[in-house]
Amino acid sequence: MRITAIRQGVAPISSEIANAYIDFSKMTASIVAVTVEDGQGRSATGFGFNSNGRYAQPGLLAERFIPRLQEAPEALLATPEGGLDPAGAWSAMMRNEKPGGHGERSVAVGVLDMALWDAAAKLEGVPLWKLLAERFRQGQADETAWIYAAGGYYYPGKDVSALVEEMRRYLGMGYSVVKMKIGGAPGVPIKEALPEDVKRIEAVLALLGGDGSRLCVDVNGRFGLHAALAYGAALAPYRLRWYEEPLDPLDYSNHAALAEQYGGPLATGENLFSMQDARNLIRHGGLRPDRDILQFDPALSYGLVEYLRTLEMLAQHGWSPRRCVPHGGHQFALNIAVGLGLGGNESYPEVFAPFGGFADDTPVRDSRIHLHDSPGIGFERKNALHAVLKTLLD
Ligand code: MG
Repeated sequence: MRITAIRQGVAPISSEIANAYIDFSKMTASIVAVTVEDGQGRSATGFGFNSNGRYAQPGLLAERFIPRLQEAPEALLATPEGGLDPAGAWSAMMRNEKPGGHGERSVAVGVLDMALWDAAAKLEGVPLWKLLAERFRQGQADETAWIYAAGGYYYPGKDVSALVEEMRRYLGMGYSVVKMKIGGAPGVPIKEALPEDVKRIEAVLALLGGDGSRLCVDVNGRFGLHAALAYGAALAPYRLRWYEEPLDPLDYSNHAALAEQYGGPLATGENLFSMQDARNLIRHGGLRPDRDILQFDPALSYGLVEYLRTLEMLAQHGWSPRRCVPHGGHQFALNIAVGLGLGGNESYPEVFAPFGGFADDTPVRDSRIHLHDSPGIGFERKNALHAVLKTLLD
């Protein structure tokens, strides 16, 4: 097994939206194409990118991770059956990296890991979800994935009626569960944000027939414990699907304090980028395996090789993979959800184009989606994204 070419680029992922913590007007993403040959006449090119929320990593890729991958011994890159082994590639990329302090190298490695899994499935002529089910789950894959529409961002001039119209569009696209941002646009004091958010939530709930299990709310880590508890008390009567990232993602003891007071499901994890960070959350965050949701995003956190370690850690702590609903709204995590039996996946019907969203010809019905049957992750079945990735090969 040989890597014959690795190309990288930077693509804009910008939009005029904001959550409670950042605005996205300057956001970028790394894109890569990795070409492999298996020594038996077959070759494949896999594509990868990082999902939204972290910036492109061209320097880390060029200086450390691409050269190491190019220098990886051929034997390390092959499974005993002759397939491409992303775990071997991963150990080559992480040579001479100390543990801890993960920073954003996990993003750079995640981009390459995605491309390697795409190539591995293409070499075997199967969709990634099927390859994963065969390698890790005795061939058992889910029929469909549960997905929900994430949106409800703040942007200049957007009022409550525009928010409700946005959510109505998601229902029209086949989603039955939606998510909106709360906690205020950047710079809005929290005491002003809470009464405004109550109005926004009640307006969206009216659209959803008053059913709180169809609505998630997301704070993007903005609150301290006091604000998280105040919001939690205000949210509790609505019995929402989940209350997402109320606190700083690394403040585990505050999560434990909140989980003692807020009885409904909490969701977090999209800003934890390693198995070790995820393990600290599970050990010290007071989260409850019977209701809470874990949102680790494989595209931002060292890829699927690391995500498999995270799933194993979760099993050791009594957590089902069904509690995992990855952040990012990308096809990589959707394949993982179906192939490894997760609880579902995020979806961004209107933002983060062209990276968000799934194959063009797979409609959403009642918040569930069938997967494509093309070799690889399925990028070739999503025209707008494939057009961007293909520019790497010109
Ligand atoms: Mg979130």
